Amino acid sequence: MTSTPLPTTGPVITGLGAIDRGAGRVAADAKRMINARADVNQLLPLKYGWAWEKYLAACSNHWMPTEVSMQADIALWRSPDGLTSDERLLLTRNLGFFATAESLVANNVVLAVYRHLTNPECRQYLLRQAFEEAVHTHTFQYVCESLGLDEGELFNMYREVPSITDKDAWALQHTRHLADPGFTTGTPDADRAFLRDLVAFYVVFEGMWFYTGFAQILSLGRRNKMVGIAEQYQYILRDESIHLNFGIDCINQIRTENPHLWTPAFADEIRGMLGEACELEITYARDTLPHGVLGLTADACAQYMRFITDRRAHQIGLAPLFGETDNPFPWMSEAIDLKKEKNFFETRVIDYRTGGALDWD
Ligand code: MN
Ligand code: FE
Repeated sequence: MTSTPLPTTGPVITGLGAIDRGAGRVAADAKRMINARADVNQLLPLKYGWAWEKYLAACSNHWMPTEVSMQADIALWRSPDGLTSDERLLLTRNLGFFATAESLVANNVVLAVYRHLTNPECRQYLLRQAFEEAVHTHTFQYVCESLGLDEGELFNMYREVPSITDKDAWALQHTRHLADPGFTTGTPDADRAFLRDLVAFYVVFEGMWFYTGFAQILSLGRRNKMVGIAEQYQYILRDESIHLNFGIDCINQIRTENPHLWTPAFADEIRGMLGEACELEITYARDTLPHGVLGLTADACAQYMRFITDRRAHQIGLAPLFGETDNPFPWMSEAIDLKKEKNFFETRVIDYRTGGALDWD
């Protein structure tokens, strides 16, 4: 629509540029997900109600890991026959992946995505998401401290366990160049690089890899093991399902506004990314569950990952990769559909709303 050339320097797009004293007021129609010329500092008038709704939903889900009692977990972890050696391996590999994964996601949000998304209501959500990623990292610090785990082992696992390193390195290749001060969107190549980054972090990292991680811990929790960690994972899952849906809405909105980016070749490339990510997760599952534990095997995790991969492909308008129709963890859909968990979640939310009133004495 616009015939004026797009700004070519970063600060104009990021919101740190000089103030345009003579500019007209922003019309909602002039707002764009990427490459907007409208003032990025003006939240109102709103254009993308879905982004604002997610910001509100996220704020009413506030929680802190330190509110969850770890007493039962500590007793079980210390008891010599509380957990089998396979369960201990599953737990440490799972925690080891998440301990640094939340920081990788946070870095991508703050250093790459925020810089290039030119919509203030989306940025409002990103600021909330960034805080939630800090809460999630705090969770792993709290678990580590409560159980007396080896912090060096946990926080170095992303470098020392190859199947975790491979996942993190795969995602980092898509974010690294976006943080380069010289990188700007505005060409088809650059805009596609930005879409790849959104796919790598929102769809793959948070939307695929986190979900097998949640399934592993919630499976233990269903057998009454490590119930404190399982409760924390349910809170994280609730947050992550909004992160995922925000990312999917962003990708689909960018595609709607920029149909020229989504060529058949690009769609094939994105499907290829989902396939690679599924393979990486299956390798990690075999490292995490070499012999399986009660109710959970590497094969079931692989099947679940294929099922989730197809679901994510569908959510961004791509054909299924595997045609996997059987969900080996049907109970995960209940854990995800949090409205069903009335007692578990809603009391907390209400506690926060009343507890949030300030006392100015
Ligand atoms: Mn997170
Ligand atoms: Fe997240």
